[in-house]
Formats: sequence, C-alpha cells, structure tokens
Amino acid sequence: MERLWAPWRFAYVTNVSGGPPECIFCQASEGGVRLPSEGGVRLPSEGGVRLQPDPSRDALILVRGRVSYVILNLYPYNSGHVMVVPNRHAPNLASMSAEEQAELMTLTRHAEIALTEAYAPNGINIGINLGKSAGAGVLDHLHVHLVPRWNGDTNFMTVVGNVRVLPEDLGESAKRLRPIFERLANEEKTGEHAKIAEKI
Ligand SMILES: [Zn+2]
Repeated sequence: MERLWAPWRFAYVTNVSGGPPECIFCQASEGGVRLPSEGGVRLPSEGGVRLQPDPSRDALILVRGRVSYVILNLYPYNSGHVMVVPNRHAPNLASMSAEEQAELMTLTRHAEIALTEAYAPNGINIGINLGKSAGAGVLDHLHVHLVPRWNGDTNFMTVVGNVRVLPEDLGESAKRLRPIFERLANEEKTGEHAKIAEKI
C-alpha cells in the first residue's frame, strides 16, 4: 500500500543511524518536544534527523499528572495513537513505585475514555513493549501504547484506489484530545469520576 504525505514518518525512516542523543521520554517529561513542522527535526542533509527538546513547547503532551504524562506518538500507527509515560526513566513495571503504578493506570483509563469520545473507534489496542525483542522503539523507559482501531482501519483516512492517506495532523489530534483530558483530570479531583465509573 502506498502512503501519502507523512512528514513524521519520513523523519522516522531516515533516522536510522543515530537516533535521539538522550531518551526522548525523559526530554518530554522535562519540557516538551517540538513537532517536525515547527522545526523540531533536522533535515538529513544537516547530519541526521534528531528531535530537539524545547522547554517552552509542549506540543505533543496532552496532560501531565504528578509522576507521569500522556503524549501523542510522533510516529502514529493510527490517528489518536497516544502513550502514557512515567516521568522517571524506569525500564519496567517491576521498578515502578506504588504511586507510579496507580497513576499510570489512571491516565491509561483517561486515555481510553478520551480516545473513545474523540474518535469513536471500534476497538483500542493497549500494550507495553519491554525490550527490543518485544518491539520497543524507546528502550529502558516504559510506556503504555494506546492505539485506536477501526474495522479495516480506514476511518479518518481517505482511501482512493490503493493509496491511503495517513493519520491526521498531530496538532489536530492534540486539539481534539487535550480538553477531554483536562475535564477528566478535574473529575478525578472532585470525585466525579467515581459516579461515572458506576454508570459504566
Ligand atoms: Zn527516559
């Protein structure tokens, strides 16, 4: 299947030699990462593609908890592909504190609700890849993937003949999802979430 216009995927594909100099999730936990369209990725001619942290920008971050955050995947498998990440550079569940475990699950729950509201997918893959052999793209910093799925995975993508247009712009995804995460965080504070959980 041929793919059209996917600058972040292009960046990914050409980023075969070096990769980010530091852990991308640690950078994001400290201050955010620029979108490629905002100059966050160097051209291959400039010595390889590389993400640049920018403390003033939180372009990909959707919400921050006390010890973890939710971030859009820069190389989405589908529209709405997000990750829940502990702030700390922790490699696995075994090394998570009780607080980290609890908040990771709370934010994963919020992400499930937000994706369901914003995209109405037919299903959602939720998973953790530990280690290279398991398919982890970023090693030694645990992250929970949530990938909305549609029957045939054609929603939000235009299919013309055999050409598939890739997921929506990441800025657009952030605009859709951020207000939902904010509302859920407020509901969590006020205890409103318990009532909602009872209804479901
Ligand atoms: Zn890290």
